[in-house]
Amino acid sequence: MSLTTVPTIQVEKVNTSRIHDVDFENLVFGNIFTDHMFECDYVDGAWQNPTIKPYGPLEIYPAAKVFHYGQAVFEGMKAYKDEEGSVFLFRPLENLKRINKSSHRMAIPEFPEALFFDAMHQLLEMDKDWVKPGMGNSLYIRPFVIATQNGVSASPSDQYKFMIILSPAQAYYKGEVRVIIAENFSRAADGGVGYAKAAGNYGAQFYPTNLAKERGFQQVIWTDANEHKYLEEAGTMNVFFRVNDTLLTAPTNDRILDGVTRKSVIALAEKAGINVEVRRVEVAEIVAAAKEGALKEIFGAGTAAVISPVSAFSYKDETFELQSQADSFAMQFKKHLMEIQYNLTEDPFEWRYRVC
Ligand SMILES: *Cc1c(COP(=O)(O)O)cnc(C)c1O
Repeated sequence: MSLTTVPTIQVEKVNTSRIHDVDFENLVFGNIFTDHMFECDYVDGAWQNPTIKPYGPLEIYPAAKVFHYGQAVFEGMKAYKDEEGSVFLFRPLENLKRINKSSHRMAIPEFPEALFFDAMHQLLEMDKDWVKPGMGNSLYIRPFVIATQNGVSASPSDQYKFMIILSPAQAYYKGEVRVIIAENFSRAADGGVGYAKAAGNYGAQFYPTNLAKERGFQQVIWTDANEHKYLEEAGTMNVFFRVNDTLLTAPTNDRILDGVTRKSVIALAEKAGINVEVRRVEVAEIVAAAKEGALKEIFGAGTAAVISPVSAFSYKDETFELQSQADSFAMQFKKHLMEIQYNLTEDPFEWRYRVC
């Protein structure tokens, strides 16, 4: 047996699909899951027993390390269906590389690329009826890894579970997004895990985000932890600023998640001849641009919402409202990205990946 042999995935199908119980017109993001899930265990130094089985609860010991030390990472991807019924992913290799980068930082063993793609193909083939055609409809894909060793010593687990679960989705955000620029709380620090999709990064944001919500804002834009002087990113989105006709976004580093949507927006903007500056963006320059009327747009970029236009931002008790732009960059990128994702236009960068 060669080292590159992919283990065969065992398949156990549901007897009866739950799909007919689902109201696809009124989905709440991330609440409903498809019939099947993928599961693979890391035991004795190897990933083994890959299985696709009915979606359902796990049996895990209370001492499993994931519960005590947060050794867990995840990904977020989507499958899209075109009018002919073909199912596509968007740059899936980026997600596989990134979950392995996240795992590496969390001392979790990396997952093999060939098995990842085999699992994705078989699972999506089985649950493809859950991917509805039409712009905005998608199947949200959540791969994740958890530490399952039964023991509370503070050291890396010697057992893990890699899973993929699927959730049908409509457009993620409805309504406007108002944001607060962080002045005290931080999401990530130099040398930390901000660049990883590590579970604890998200749990730690809930409290400051709740405080923002109490004040009528939906999201926080995080600033650098040292001085709170530079704008970094939002909870699950990278952030772009349009000052006059120039697009600004922070460079990726060990505090910022290297978003697939972010790098796709930069590529599309450059192709469209838009001036893009990837550099540190000061809060002060954005506030000054807002006061002068030069700040045209702020938007978030991430798989779940694609592009989320920001309608207002608050900083030190001042709130700045942003007028919607007739020639909105945000809407232009959103339309172009979605047309590529839904196989409605050519794909010059070869981002589309046909699954079935
Ligand atoms: C997932 C995520 C993003 C967006 O990444 P995409 O690959 O575009 O989905 C941005 N910031 C954070 C913190 C994230 O977790």
